[in-house]
Amino acid sequence: MGWRDVIGAVLDATAAAPAPQARRTTAESHKAAAPASDARASLARPRPARPAPPEPERPAPERAWSAAVFDHIEWRRFEAVCEALFAQSGMRSASQSHGADGGVDIWLYSQHSDEPVIVQCKHWKKRVVGVKELREFYGVLKSHDLTYGTFATSSTFSSDALAFAKSNRINAQDREGLLRLIAGRSAEQQQALLDTAYEGEYWKPTCVKCGVKMVLREGKGSEWFWGCSNFAKTRCRSILKAAQVGTSAQI
Ligand SMILES: [Zn+2]
Repeated sequence: MGWRDVIGAVLDATAAAPAPQARRTTAESHKAAAPASDARASLARPRPARPAPPEPERPAPERAWSAAVFDHIEWRRFEAVCEALFAQSGMRSASQSHGADGGVDIWLYSQHSDEPVIVQCKHWKKRVVGVKELREFYGVLKSHDLTYGTFATSSTFSSDALAFAKSNRINAQDREGLLRLIAGRSAEQQQALLDTAYEGEYWKPTCVKCGVKMVLREGKGSEWFWGCSNFAKTRCRSILKAAQVGTSAQI
């Protein structure tokens, strides 16, 4: 049972329980006689224990490339797919899986040029990449005294972001662009990229600081959140809202 099913079941149970007001209305004749302490006693009844953190939903892997693959996987797998995709075009690549990256997720080296190409990846689901992100990336490009950069996203770019990219030699690849590049690869290469996407626990987010998988934890309210599994060991406080991960992601 997926965690959303669990939450759905809890909500269903809540909806099915008669509201106290309704109960009082149907028992109108007892209203005057009912001692107030009964009501207080029922309010003071201990709440049932909350269920253990639900198992996160694991989307079934696609058999061929489509936009759904980007929705199924977490940010680290997306970066790995981008790196493998660019490496397939004959570039040597280097990346780091976590920690401060200085705005560069992947370094690409071509045998035809002394100058590396830097890549930034944004695994966003619905949020559009704006000109702000492109300007920041341009700043990173200039800080390394480089000419060419690629900005890859699983989402889309705003029109001003695309215009900025075009006038500043930034190769902007959105979801459709990446899928077109992938479609141009051989069947074996496409399968290799698919295997990279669905490697390991692809549906669980990776801590941006530690590079370890995150775990679902109970929040103060009724929500679950993803916390770093290193929290007890290193006090790493990286968190993600549960809704930001998986197929229902809002970002
Ligand atoms: Zn961490």
